[in-house]
Amino acid sequence: MMKILVTGSTGLVGTAIKKYVNANSQTYQMRQIEFKFVSSKDADLRQKDQVDKLFENENYYAVIHLAASVGGLYKNIRSNVEMYLDNVDINTNVINACHNYGVKRGIFCLSSCIYPASPPAFPMTEKMLHQGNPHDSNKGYAHAKRQLEVLCDIYNSQYHREYICVSPVNLYGPNDNFNIEDGHIIPSVMHRMYNSLETQEFSLYGTGAAWRQFLYSEDFARAIINILMDCSIKWGTYNICNTDIYGDIPQYKIKDVIDLIADNLGFPKDLIKKNVMFSDGIIKKTVSGEKFRKKFPRFVFTSLEEGLEKTCKWMIDNFDTIRK
Ligand code: NDP
Repeated sequence: MMKILVTGSTGLVGTAIKKYVNANSQTYQMRQIEFKFVSSKDADLRQKDQVDKLFENENYYAVIHLAASVGGLYKNIRSNVEMYLDNVDINTNVINACHNYGVKRGIFCLSSCIYPASPPAFPMTEKMLHQGNPHDSNKGYAHAKRQLEVLCDIYNSQYHREYICVSPVNLYGPNDNFNIEDGHIIPSVMHRMYNSLETQEFSLYGTGAAWRQFLYSEDFARAIINILMDCSIKWGTYNICNTDIYGDIPQYKIKDVIDLIADNLGFPKDLIKKNVMFSDGIIKKTVSGEKFRKKFPRFVFTSLEEGLEKTCKWMIDNFDTIRK
């Protein structure tokens, strides 16, 4: 039996991986692959002794490490210190345990928002990760994640491990964190706008002029499993974002994304105001998904329109129990 541990399994990405694995359970049974899904209830990964207990006597072949202290722009600005310390502890404990307990392969999660604020060029390729400082707004989270990439790299060169990094753009989908203060832009706007349907008063934070790339969580889950199962991939970082076969990269103005959400929730677009007291964050941070596209030329990404429709519907159907 080949055992694979998935950390952070109650989160946005973890639940998408679980859905994918359940949908393909027969294949995994036949191939004698067993997934174990854990969350902070099973172990606080900031605590080394709890992480060691999680790995003891399990003989995992691979780990998909998703767990992290995650948040949107405003949580990052408020809590740079905690975002740094929590994520450094989580990542150091998990990768050291992987090595100490003989885990051969691992997928470790970075983020496009940890790339340089002023990169040498756009779109940013994986090689540019350390070529400049991250944006001040999230430097705690960014440096913790960059350190994870360094750890993977040096474990691979010194101990011949196969620790691979994936770096997604802004994620969204069912089971996201819809908290208005701490969530990422899409889920927090969906929640706020849904609450405003009666009053019809809604203002977007900032001017809406920034450009972003978005990735549906279930696409990211599929990409992770594809990479994990492809034995020709042994190390390195893969940006995960939609880049079509001609090299075009779909990205969206925040204002247009808000309008799409409004269409799905039935909020009148002409009533949307702008609160310019809020920061827009970095205006553009385009990354290239060409490396992933070359490896998986037939990978199909969900369009933002379809992904937002599904996510809005999921939020409305599950409104009483969503994370908020
Ligand atoms: P979520 O916030 O949705 O979920 C976080 C998960 O991590 C939960 O399962 C949570 O468990 C677990 N977790 C948090 N702290 C601890 C801890 N101290 N010990 C054990 N488990 C913990 O995150 P996402 O699914 O959105 O993110 C998955 C990965 O993708 C992360 O590494 C993140 O950095 C990365 N990423 C996310 C993006 C996004 O837009 N969401 C964008 C780019 C990268 P519990 O539920 O028990 O608290």
